Amino acid sequence: MSTALVWFRRDLRLSDNPALMAALEQYDHVVPVYLHAPHEEAPWEPGEAARLWLHHSLAALTQSLQKCHNTLVIRKIAGNSSSLEMLQNLLQETGATAVFWNRLYEPAVIERDKTVKSTLRADDFSAESFKAALLFEPWEVETGSGGPYRVFTPFWKSIKTRFIDSPLPAAGKIAAGKSVSSDKLDSLELLPTLSWKDDIERHWDIGEPAAMARLDEFLGDPLKRYSEERNIPAIEGTSRLSPHLHFGEISPRQVWHATKAYEARSQAQGGNADGDKFLSEIAWREFAHHLLFHYPDTTREPMNKKFTSFPWRSSYKKDLNAWQRGLTGIPIVDAGMRELWATGTMHNRVRMIVASLLTKNLLVHWREGAEWFWDTLVDADLASNTLGWQWVAGSGADAAPFFRIFNPVLQGERFDPNGEYVQHWVPELKKMPKKFLHKPWEASDELLTEAKVTLGETYPRPICDLKESRRRALGAYGEIKAQS
Ligand SMILES: Cc1cc2nc3c(=O)[nH]c(=O)nc-3n(C[C@H](O)[C@H](O)[C@H](O)COP(=O)(O)OP(=O)(O)OC[C@H]3O[C@@H](n4cnc5c(N)ncnc54)[C@H](O)[C@@H]3O)c2cc1C
Repeated sequence: MSTALVWFRRDLRLSDNPALMAALEQYDHVVPVYLHAPHEEAPWEPGEAARLWLHHSLAALTQSLQKCHNTLVIRKIAGNSSSLEMLQNLLQETGATAVFWNRLYEPAVIERDKTVKSTLRADDFSAESFKAALLFEPWEVETGSGGPYRVFTPFWKSIKTRFIDSPLPAAGKIAAGKSVSSDKLDSLELLPTLSWKDDIERHWDIGEPAAMARLDEFLGDPLKRYSEERNIPAIEGTSRLSPHLHFGEISPRQVWHATKAYEARSQAQGGNADGDKFLSEIAWREFAHHLLFHYPDTTREPMNKKFTSFPWRSSYKKDLNAWQRGLTGIPIVDAGMRELWATGTMHNRVRMIVASLLTKNLLVHWREGAEWFWDTLVDADLASNTLGWQWVAGSGADAAPFFRIFNPVLQGERFDPNGEYVQHWVPELKKMPKKFLHKPWEASDELLTEAKVTLGETYPRPICDLKESRRRALGAYGEIKAQS
């Protein structure tokens, strides 16, 4: 009787799981394992909010495996040991002759996995990895002249009509191998001790069944309204699938095919569901991974090398702290930063606005923002976070031109016209008349008194003069633009 280990990482699902399916097809028994080795992802070990998600996602996977008459073997890897050593131990303990896993694309993980594969193979074990986190491997998409894309639109054009395999079915019974010891999930100490955790937990359903349910919910009226509503932070106009996708509780292939099927059903019934805009966002996720794979140093370095000498401020801790706490005195920015703290997520439009304020008006290096997001987002993803920050800062591939500086007042008035989002997250401004909700500093003393707002006391004065700081940012940009 043959046995394979299936090494779960960020593919915490039983359906459309190519590594699991291949093991089931080729071996009599399967031992599912999760190895907790955050030090192997350094310097990008999962942040606090992501660890919380991981805890619940592993709990959900454990339950799903139990329903398939199997058990997830969890092993905590000490800092002086490695996943490779643990896999070697597990091969011995279980009598397995193969290890199967699905690929990830962060630079440190790629290096680790290469060593694991070559060492196991050299020892005559079967070691196979599979594509499961992306629609296309980063090396499968090339420009006409060869090489990676650096601009999204041609990247999207080149993949949107390509054939994408149907998702694999969910595993049924998974015959268990020899039983071996497992560490307890709690021993991984993934849950933060802060009460902050309860707020985030209230906000989300975590795990594969929840991810499927969320997709189902989205494929209906929300998809039909996606193009108009995706930019309005006060309404749930987007899928909220990003953490589920990040942890592999659902695959992009499942999302792609379900969206196409819904579109076809709707059109057959005379409806006009159009999934194109939504699928283009899934393609942004692909593009982010494409860039991370081909330009791995962009997690720290600007993609546009001119930005290496950009005059970021060197003394900024007070401003950074105010930004992190949602106390900048700029309502839409404070609303976003508080939403992030309370829920582990922030609406995409607001991510762009808060990132623009930090990098442009405050001239704080984008890496500071990226690191804060890394720790506080449940969907913190090295590829998408790097792309998002470099894009806003203007230093990335296909970036927003640096001179396009988001005006947070105009953005607020346009995308939160009734002020519901700001009033929800910044209750100090609840009584502020709509006309001044996004710029309370322009309200008269009389209006402020009526609204029970005392600037500098009940709500901060703006952290910077938006016009003046814009001028300063453009000046800094001019300096690097002038370089040959
Ligand atoms: C500064 C900044 C940092 C960001 N950091 C992250 C991050 O760490 N992790 C992350 O998943 N996304 C990140 N994003 C992208 C985007 O904000 C989120 O993916 C989106 O808000 C998730 O909400 P949703 O699932 O409802 O998205 P939907 O609008 O429903 O989109 C569907 C899916 O497409 C993908 N997607 C959408 N927009 C983008 C994008 N701009 N880039 C890459 N993928 C995208 C996501 O997987 C998302 O779940 C960042 C954006 C910015 C501007």
